[in-house]
Amino acid sequence: MSGRLLVIGLGPGDDRYLTREAHDALLAADALYGYGPYLDRFPVRPSQLRHASDNREEGARAEAALRHAAAGARVAIVSGGDPGVFAMAASVCEAAETGPEAWRAIDIAIVPGITAMLAVAARAGAPLGHDFCALSLSDNLKPWGLIERRLDAAASAGFVIALYNPVSRARPWQLAKAFTLLGRHLPGTTPVIFGRAVGRPDESLIVTTLAAAGEAAADMATLIIVGSSETRVIARESLGPLVYTPRAVESVIA
Ligand code: SAH
Repeated sequence: MSGRLLVIGLGPGDDRYLTREAHDALLAADALYGYGPYLDRFPVRPSQLRHASDNREEGARAEAALRHAAAGARVAIVSGGDPGVFAMAASVCEAAETGPEAWRAIDIAIVPGITAMLAVAARAGAPLGHDFCALSLSDNLKPWGLIERRLDAAASAGFVIALYNPVSRARPWQLAKAFTLLGRHLPGTTPVIFGRAVGRPDESLIVTTLAAAGEAAADMATLIIVGSSETRVIARESLGPLVYTPRAVESVIA
């Protein structure tokens, strides 16, 4: 008998950001797997099993959940934001592809959530109004040289760039290097947004420029959006600045 495995996105913050679909799927699960602080974010049924694990154990967590689902249970794995964006959904697919035959008979469904990039963009205005891309600055799962190539390519192609995982204790210098690389393609006046813990009580938003970006604090709960040469900032008297990227671009970027 094979069960069901749901990979559920919780959104970036508290339960205001949880979709109805995600909420219902969480309630219906026999067992929940995920990073401890995510599991603690909402009350669940007492009869529901909870398997909290460390954020770095994604592969092992995916395998444990698939094994459990293969035994017939309705299992849910939770991710912050959207589970398909630098998160568990791809780990589950990878484990299903390489694991035992029985795992490929499991009904795997992905329940989307609001990803950090969209929550931060909404706070700032409409910086993703034209073409954009998202990059993780973490070199845990790819070489730093590849990150540099992608930053160069994205900035020179005129994309607005969302940077996930901008810093961690093990990666202290990468963000400053990224800003330096981007500065080769973009003017120092390019708007840069730092959105921290968006959707949570300690949320903060800083709008600065590429030239000054190095001085703004970023940590593991921060998502950074680097504008393109088209991105604009409307300064407002008593309200915060409104950042947007116009829908239309006039010229072909060299
Ligand atoms: N699946 C998640 C991303 C996981 S990678 C999503 O879709 O949002 C983890 C990175 O996401 C963090 O380092 C940070 O860059 C970003 N992030 C997650 N939650 C955030 C929040 N509430 N505010 C700002 N950035 C956040």
